[in-house]
Amino acid sequence: MADAARVAVVTGGNRGMGLETVRQLAKLGIEVMLTSRDPEAGAAAVTDLAESGLSASVQPLDVTDQGQIEALVERIARQFGRLDILVNNAGILPDSRGHDGHRASVLVTPMELMRSAYETNTLGPMRLCQALVPLMRKNGYGRIVNVSSAMGQLSEMGGEFPGYRLSKAALNALTRILAAELAGTDIKVNAACPGWVRTDMGGADATRSLAEGVDTTVWLATVTGEDAPNGGFFRDREPIPW
Ligand code: NAP
Repeated sequence: MADAARVAVVTGGNRGMGLETVRQLAKLGIEVMLTSRDPEAGAAAVTDLAESGLSASVQPLDVTDQGQIEALVERIARQFGRLDILVNNAGILPDSRGHDGHRASVLVTPMELMRSAYETNTLGPMRLCQALVPLMRKNGYGRIVNVSSAMGQLSEMGGEFPGYRLSKAALNALTRILAAELAGTDIKVNAACPGWVRTDMGGADATRSLAEGVDTTVWLATVTGEDAPNGGFFRDREPIPW
């Protein structure tokens, strides 16, 4: 890794675990590009960080919008000329309300819901990797963290929430595919499971704080050395089954 300050992109950085990840990376002295699909929410998040003496750049980004992804790449290349860390954090849980009086059964889930889940949770991260890995290759260094979920684990797979479960299982597969293609380089790709975390998505009853939720993500984003993992799925910094 070259000596200049590391540069990170975090998707969905305006609230929840995305904002906490930005905060933790900024505390480590990393130049963070906080991306947010709502520019005002992104600006408010940067103000929030500034109140604790931290800084981040902000860039509008809906992860389903190829044009905005290209604008992000252009800005990173121009402003920093490098990218070290990509945290694919943005995600949706589209099937939480259920359908037609059923819970979120796979038997009644609309295909449109499935498509929206894949667009954000799977294809968004894939688009960002396609766009940003070339910048990582320039320095021969990169850390990509795909924020996944136990609900995408095949080994633990249960019923309901097919939009979320299938899109996160596919994100896990993307992690493996990309890690295989980048094997032998110092660009490492891993998936993180935050556990059940108190955010808008996780709800107030969740068992983990924001800091606990992002700990493994931040570790995977910053781990260096010959033992840095590649192609794994981690919770609490330990490997877990796919
Ligand atoms: P959250 O509070 O609901 O925040 C989700 C973030 O994703 C928001 O910033 C949201 O932006 C952004 N987002 C959604 N769709 C987007 C899109 N198309 N383009 C760009 N940004 C988009 O969720 P969270 O709990 O922090 O979750 C963060 C990640 O952890 C997600 O990938 C989630 O699946 C995963 N996770 C969460 C839990 C949990 O218990 N909370 C457990 C396991 C995994 P807006 O503000 O514009 O909506």
